[in-house]
Amino acid sequence: MRRSNFCCLLAFFTLFTCVAASTSAQSQLPTTSAQDRALAKEIFKQLIEINTTDTPLGNVTTATEAMQKRFLDAGFSPQDVHLLGPDPRKMNLVVRIPAAGTPTEKPVVFLCHIDVVEALRKDWNTNPFEFVEKDGYYYGRGTQDMKDSDAALVFTFLKLHREGYKPERDLILALTADEEGGKFNGADWLVKEHRDLVDAAYVINPDSGGVELDQGRAMVADVEATEKVYADYQITAADRGGHSSIPRPDNAIYELTTALNKLAAYQFPFEMNEVTRTYFKNLAAQETGQTAADMRAILASPPDEAAAARLSAAEPSFNSNFRTTCVATRLAGGHANNALPQSAQANVNCRIFPGHSPEEIRQQLIALFGDAKLSVKYVSDAGDVSDTAPERKAMVPPAPIKEVFEPLTRLTQALWPGTPVTPVMENGASDSIYFAQAGIPCYGYSAIALERDDDRAHGQDERLPVDSYWKSLDFFYAFAKALGQ
Ligand SMILES: [Zn+2]
Repeated sequence: MRRSNFCCLLAFFTLFTCVAASTSAQSQLPTTSAQDRALAKEIFKQLIEINTTDTPLGNVTTATEAMQKRFLDAGFSPQDVHLLGPDPRKMNLVVRIPAAGTPTEKPVVFLCHIDVVEALRKDWNTNPFEFVEKDGYYYGRGTQDMKDSDAALVFTFLKLHREGYKPERDLILALTADEEGGKFNGADWLVKEHRDLVDAAYVINPDSGGVELDQGRAMVADVEATEKVYADYQITAADRGGHSSIPRPDNAIYELTTALNKLAAYQFPFEMNEVTRTYFKNLAAQETGQTAADMRAILASPPDEAAAARLSAAEPSFNSNFRTTCVATRLAGGHANNALPQSAQANVNCRIFPGHSPEEIRQQLIALFGDAKLSVKYVSDAGDVSDTAPERKAMVPPAPIKEVFEPLTRLTQALWPGTPVTPVMENGASDSIYFAQAGIPCYGYSAIALERDDDRAHGQDERLPVDSYWKSLDFFYAFAKALGQ
């Protein structure tokens, strides 16, 4: 069953890639007016300047309440605007544009997390919670992940309502908490506790996918078809400690760093699946020279590992697409300057290639470290530590739906002519997993164009080209109307 869906998906994408490439006369999209752009920018600014991190300073509810106010002020019926959640600081907002009559099709959900990753002022050149426009970019935490799309969708829903737009099926926007961390994941909670509010034929999740730019040239438009599995592991070395004036060979910090050095030098095996194969096949057609040759070489059987190594070195995100990755992200150890450490601990964050489970990777880490005195435990998203890890599976690529991919491809072509639309495996993880697990297909597409080497999500000086924001407004307005038909 899965396999046939899969082939169908690939045939479908191949078809659309061909159609896209052979269409010479591109239809023009209406451009968002200056007045509307000003409103969309104001919403974007407001969201960036509300701290929605999972920290004492952050509060998701402040942001969702602000958006709730916008919808109610604009005349949305209170019965179509729901603020709800399991925690007063983590309230989700679900907004509905109801169908004109009795809909024959289930709704479409636009799923947008509204929380962001922590950002420290000292690490940034601007204040991460201040919306700064500079040199053609918007700076601020969340400008790429994903308050750009939150704002674009809030704006789109407001505009559709203002114009009196009546879809033939309900359109739903869900702004949710704790995608990036925290104990109250809104997507998970809504699906489990209020399925009636978010039940849908399918989900569009702008948290992934988008247009890859290479020095301004659009290379490929990615639609997320599958994603890696996220897993954290707590690595602990324990020792009896002692006086630091009498060091011994056994030392918790050295034991831990020896293990981490092994991890630093280790590379998980090269792998491909049908989604990544199609992605690199489509990309090779857009590339030239050594890069194009290397992309074709990794598709050969057996794959050319030297070509994979060159591509990995040139572009770290390609490396992440080729294999499971595990990296040390946090470190703590010792209890006094003049004492031998009694414990040392690190967090290792893994992004697991589909087909492997977190427990399988835990066993591989234990084997790699080869130190029976180290403990390797699994840390859940909620922060609970356990001796074993789950056997959670990766998202199965959903069957393609023409009503999604026809307008997605057509509108992408109108904005970035000649750009092929291709399925991708997302290296990160998104809330799509919760809807996918509930049997609702998810398609990841942001319509945001970004330079490949300017992915600053979760990083410092996060920024978005102003022009990319404008184009996403044009896209989502037309896309929502196409899906609502
Ligand atoms: Zn995100």
